[in-house]
Amino acid sequence: MKIRDIYETAVKMGMDKDPRGKSELQRILKRNREKYDSLPEKEKELFDRESLKNPYSDTRILVGDPDSEVRSALVGIDMEVGEVLLADRLRSSGRPVDLIISHHPEGRALAALNEVMALQADLWHRLGVPINVGDALISKRMAEIQRAFLPRNHERALDAARLLGIPFMCIHTPSDNQVNAYLSDFFARRRPRMVKDVVEALRTIPEYRTAALNRSGPAIIAGSPENRAGRIMVDMTGGTEGPQQILERLSQAGVGTVVCMHYSDKHRDEAEKHQMNVVVAGHIVSDSLGLNLILDELEKKGLEVIPASGLIRVSRLPGKKRGKGSGSGGS
Ligand SMILES: [Zn+2]
Repeated sequence: MKIRDIYETAVKMGMDKDPRGKSELQRILKRNREKYDSLPEKEKELFDRESLKNPYSDTRILVGDPDSEVRSALVGIDMEVGEVLLADRLRSSGRPVDLIISHHPEGRALAALNEVMALQADLWHRLGVPINVGDALISKRMAEIQRAFLPRNHERALDAARLLGIPFMCIHTPSDNQVNAYLSDFFARRRPRMVKDVVEALRTIPEYRTAALNRSGPAIIAGSPENRAGRIMVDMTGGTEGPQQILERLSQAGVGTVVCMHYSDKHRDEAEKHQMNVVVAGHIVSDSLGLNLILDELEKKGLEVIPASGLIRVSRLPGKKRGKGSGSGGS
């Protein structure tokens, strides 16, 4: 398959599981097109034209020709200079690596991470928070994140990949949309009664089981294990942590328990203030689950996946061995 096929598969899968729904995504792409068309010529050159067909600013082919063929990819959660060197080392020892796939974005996909955060307002809206409240709170937070990422050395890993001639891409929000939808369905079916039941339910999923064995699995950080969970919100997509002020609104809208990848102490304190339970499912493990759902699709199409950098690779394809990859302890 070509790099372009991997990219297009990921974007399509992301759109299929997007909390905004298909018609809203089409509206967003149309709005981007109108924005582009109305720009003066010299500004058109600077416009990111991928945004005309891909609503995820944090998912891009960053190095390499999109039409080059890929048989095997080194795939991980954070692919930095070390992992680029690892890819080169594998190549020189005779193991082909045609592409590096990072979950967390690099380069311009990292610099523009804030843009994907807008979808959080739609997630909250589905739970009963007025869209005007969501839009107002998320836009302030998006500006904060943009400022925070602006001074980073975005191109560092990509420069290493360019020097070594290894194509590099990242798949972020399409992957986070997978885990968000997967766990939302999972809890809707299992309906855990107490907060401790949320943790127990998570541990039945192979990725979280592996993470629990590595002491990086689900943990209750606010509320008591014996509290009733109430309505569960899975908060795992939309770039990065949202504004903490939304927690009061979510609590009023009837959310009892937030299940997330990571949570700052400020967010935790705010959740406690509004009597919400918080279960941190685990960061890298949740990223792994989301990515695994896309990797299964890519493996079906013939891609060989070499897991690295924290990826707990579990395949859900029939006949595939489970638990390959990082920290699986040979299970
Ligand atoms: Zn992540």
